[in-house]
Amino acid sequence: MMTIKQIEVTVRDIVRGYVNNDEQGVRGFDGRLDIRPPYQREFIYSEKEQQAVITTVLNGYPLNVMYWVKRSDDAECPYEVMDGQQRTLSLCEYVDGKFAYDFKNFFNQPEDVQEKILNYPLTIYVCEGEASEKLEWFKTINIAGKPLNEQEINNAVYAGPFVTDAKKHFSKSTCGAYRLGKDLVNGTPIRQDFLRKALEWMAAHETRQGHRTTIVSYMADHQHDPNANNLWSYFQQVLNWTITNFDMKKFKKIMKGLDLALFYDRFHDTALDTVALAKQISTLMRDSEVQNPHGIIPYVLTGDERSLDLRAFPEDIKLAVWEKQQHICPHCGKEFDYEFMEGDHITPWRDGGRTVIENCQMLCKECNRRKGAK
Ligand SMILES: [Zn+2]
Repeated sequence: MMTIKQIEVTVRDIVRGYVNNDEQGVRGFDGRLDIRPPYQREFIYSEKEQQAVITTVLNGYPLNVMYWVKRSDDAECPYEVMDGQQRTLSLCEYVDGKFAYDFKNFFNQPEDVQEKILNYPLTIYVCEGEASEKLEWFKTINIAGKPLNEQEINNAVYAGPFVTDAKKHFSKSTCGAYRLGKDLVNGTPIRQDFLRKALEWMAAHETRQGHRTTIVSYMADHQHDPNANNLWSYFQQVLNWTITNFDMKKFKKIMKGLDLALFYDRFHDTALDTVALAKQISTLMRDSEVQNPHGIIPYVLTGDERSLDLRAFPEDIKLAVWEKQQHICPHCGKEFDYEFMEGDHITPWRDGGRTVIENCQMLCKECNRRKGAK
């Protein structure tokens, strides 16, 4: 059963025993509060945001509610900050003398101002419960401040050695995943875009192998694994296969964001003729009939023309041709209203046909479908 309890603590309580170093991590509240648990973001509040927290406290305005998670009773550090990390850090760092507000650091403030800050009350909700309950609750409360995105919430709920290790590979601004995949994966590591992509690829990979998996089910299954080596290894295989077979310098702009794991799974056992492929890709990149350049790589691998979004005939050409044909479908010889006919490339695109009036005929829908099926 999940419980949510409201507690009132003061800034004085939070900053008591504040430490921020590599061995102990970031702790406050007499060492009982983990202010930066492993799943939290790497980035730091901007100076402006830090200053705004102090302004709020000095004016006695309310700060938004913060959320803590209660760990198991025997945990060495019983609480962790779920939401409110940056506000908590700003207060601790200020009282610790780490930055100045209005040209004064905490120790240069008059005593009454110091007291005002230390006595400022914070409203905290403490949540205790099962992983699945926390997941639902985090999604619900996740509205104020800098909201956590879905992957950040997943990291919080499935925190453990797997997530901690995964973050080393996927979540730091200079991590291995970023160095390897910055040209191919959208987003930034600190917002967990790389970790989310790796999990998405892995879940789809397992699903293709007949084992239905989602990001959340994968994280739940592996929460207590000692590390994330399998995930990291699969991500590297996908990207290394891609980089080996496609010239990044030439093609990265049409490859970023593609479902590369799908192509890796389907084609990594095939010996691709990369020289011929590169030639074909370059030609397609110059082809004005191709309206979706991101479909070029999928097309050269799968042969599915739909991914190219080839140009269709515009209305003015179709109307002119319909009139010229005197409303007759050249295949079946019957007469049709305009809306029952479709523009067809006489010479198809793959044989060099262009989207120009000389290459347009109007077919009835039936004949056009029959032609397309051939
Ligand atoms: Zn027809």
